[in-house]
Amino acid sequence: AGSLDTAWALRWMRETARVIAVERAALIDLDRAIGDADHGENLDRGFTAVLGKLDTEDAPATPAAVLKLVAMTLMSTVGGAAGPLYGTAFLRAATSLGDAEEIEAAQLATMIAAARDGIVARGKAEPGDKTMVDAWTPAADAATTAAREGSTGAEVLAAAAEAARAGAVATEPLIARKGRASYLGERSIGHQDPGAVSSALILEAAVDAAGD
Ligand code: ADP
Ligand code: MG
Ligand code: MG
Repeated sequence: AGSLDTAWALRWMRETARVIAVERAALIDLDRAIGDADHGENLDRGFTAVLGKLDTEDAPATPAAVLKLVAMTLMSTVGGAAGPLYGTAFLRAATSLGDAEEIEAAQLATMIAAARDGIVARGKAEPGDKTMVDAWTPAADAATTAAREGSTGAEVLAAAAEAARAGAVATEPLIARKGRASYLGERSIGHQDPGAVSSALILEAAVDAAGD
């Protein structure tokens, strides 16, 4: 695996856009079950706009600049609950990186924790509320542990993505306590949270981008 640099950040965002487009209908179905059936559409619109900016604007010079461009684009195009939440996540992630050109393992763990903290600051959800926080919190914890144990950046990403996926799967039996799904109360049981699933997809895309 290559270094986690600006080219990686660009591959990560292109891979995210590709995967979100592929999973668009599945995310819509999840949101139909416990929300308003637009999560896949919202995210696909946002990441399609990201691709457009990456193709037309001057290439961002650092990983942070890539993530900041993504944050601004998602905030202005995604809407709903997820737009500001992901916008804040990518903005905090960008800020945590400073002007680094290559991201080391510990910095990667800090970045993922910063994204999680941004989502929590914005949406006030706690772990177990059946939201995207249930993917990002185990991801941040796993990344921190992996970095402390001396893992490489790619290994930190893999640990984070695996934990995010497990966290998303684990939202299925939960009762939603935040967002639209909370209106359903106990009827939200039995479905994975769409935002937790899209969060797992985003982190899995980061892994794939590191392996390319
Ligand atoms: P909307 O609910 O406005 O239609 P989306 O469908 O795009 O927005 O996004 C829904 C997702 O947003 C949920 O699946 C959940 O993961 C996330 N979400 C909603 N409210 C919160 C919150 N307060 N904190 C964290 N995540 C939230
Ligand atoms: Mg929705
Ligand atoms: Mg909506």
